[in-house]
Amino acid sequence: MRAALLRWFDLHKRDLPWRGQRDPYAIWVSEIMLQQTQVSTVIPYYRRFLKRFPTVRALSAAALADVLGQWKGLGYYSRARNLHRAAQAIVAEHGGELPRTAAGLRELPGFGRYTSGAVASIAFGEEAPIVDGNVARVLSRVRAIEGLPGDKAREQRLWAEAAELVKGERPGTLNEALMELGATVCLPKAPLCLLCPVSAHCVALKTGRVDELPPAKVRTARKRLELAVAVCRRRDRLLLARRPDAGLFGGLWELPTAPTPDGLAKLLGGTVGERLATIERTLTHRDLVLDVFPLETRKKLDRLDGYTECRWVTKAELEPLGMATAMQAVLGHAWSEGTRG
Ligand code: SF4
Repeated sequence: MRAALLRWFDLHKRDLPWRGQRDPYAIWVSEIMLQQTQVSTVIPYYRRFLKRFPTVRALSAAALADVLGQWKGLGYYSRARNLHRAAQAIVAEHGGELPRTAAGLRELPGFGRYTSGAVASIAFGEEAPIVDGNVARVLSRVRAIEGLPGDKAREQRLWAEAAELVKGERPGTLNEALMELGATVCLPKAPLCLLCPVSAHCVALKTGRVDELPPAKVRTARKRLELAVAVCRRRDRLLLARRPDAGLFGGLWELPTAPTPDGLAKLLGGTVGERLATIERTLTHRDLVLDVFPLETRKKLDRLDGYTECRWVTKAELEPLGMATAMQAVLGHAWSEGTRG
């Protein structure tokens, strides 16, 4: 199975900018970006990010706000915050070089079992296993591994199978091949078994269970988070505030927000007008509802409770600021409201 996978990957791998990359830092950046984001979306971000922060040292010396600005639109900003923190730890504790083993990498912020295994195997050739969604799907079909996603016994079995398979020549390439097979052939629905290099080894195919494995994830109930957002304007400027680095939307900029319109009035010391719009977004674990209100205030507002800083910004000054996509949608309304006014 190993040999078949490697042969197939050498012939059929997609040509992606991080493929064949030798720089551990670039491999790390690509692995972080590819978590929860599609390849086609990642490519331009990957290129821009490496141009702006070409080395671990450059990233560690950058301001977090700049890093978040480069991440704008990619989502899951905790990835960018952890990249930045880990780069600082690598410079401070490892002389600017990434640790060369999965165990060493695991000590850094944002390096879970998957990322550590991916960087250690692809960049340093360690026989370190990885299991992401794609690998889990392939292995659960090939080895007919039962259990729901998230089930502990299933996870253990998957990691054990991946650890067995990675042993041998080119461990990093083997890991990449497994992920590539899941992404392009062993698809969640209607896998392309006729084209599959490991079909001879696949128990699910032999036993007619391809459609049953892996079983679909049971969705947990989502929480609803409703917030009131203030459009507070002075001439051509809007009031923006930056959240503390930890927590939801940590370190990102936003129009000032409170649990209720009354909370907004209290925060900004003004009068809340009629609701302008409601923006709804689905986040990983919750449904976000943003009710947008105009707010007039004469208060000086050079600092706001619960925020690390605040600024009056023009549309042009907004561009480089890191901001969640839901808040960018709110800003669309805020500017058009200003045009009408
Ligand atoms: S034979 Fe089909 S189900 Fe089995 S690994 Fe290949 S693509 Fe996936």
